[in-house]
Amino acid sequence: MQWPGSYCDTKDSSCCYPTTGKPASDFGIHGLWPNNNDGTYPSNCDPSNPYDESKISDLISRMQQDWPTLACPSNNGSSFWSHEWEKHGTCSESELDQHTYFETTLNLKNQILLLQILESAGIQADGNSYNLSSIQTAIENAVGYAPGIECNSDAGGNSQLYQVYFCVGPSGSNLIKCPVFPTASCASTIKFPSF
Ligand code: AMP
Repeated sequence: MQWPGSYCDTKDSSCCYPTTGKPASDFGIHGLWPNNNDGTYPSNCDPSNPYDESKISDLISRMQQDWPTLACPSNNGSSFWSHEWEKHGTCSESELDQHTYFETTLNLKNQILLLQILESAGIQADGNSYNLSSIQTAIENAVGYAPGIECNSDAGGNSQLYQVYFCVGPSGSNLIKCPVFPTASCASTIKFPSF
């Protein structure tokens, strides 16, 4: 999951709101990614199974809400969703079909109320800085497993909360202990920008 404020306030890249409007001030989905236990991952596994939005027409309003594109130029999200399906979705070991892949991912987002978890621990998207360890502990206490935390830098070079990783089993629906974490990229104190 990704904090949109941290995608948008970096020095080098700008963001563009989707044509459907400014996303909610909430974590959004980045993707559901099949991963090997050593941290490597397969990609673009089945060119014969391209993204087909007609297979997920019943999920589009949830996708717009919970899986917002922030790429420029402004667009309706299809290119981000298509990228995620073709690069990652086609690689699932349990061969989730497109509808199951997107629905499973949306359900995970709704299962882990990340912003609420942080707010309940007094950690708010208010532009202040928080101890990385307090963020990790709040999430682990609520979810039962340690999350992976990825940071990026704002325009002033401050380390900030960018993405939070959770691990699931091959079905994509049950949380598991992460075999590996993303390489450390956070300072010991990190900003949580507003959005
Ligand atoms: P991935 O290829 O799934 O590992 O993710 C990296 C790609 O996703 C990069 O091209 C990012 O620019 C893009 N990306 C990450 N977050 C977003 C977002 N919210 N909207 C659109 N593209 C994104």
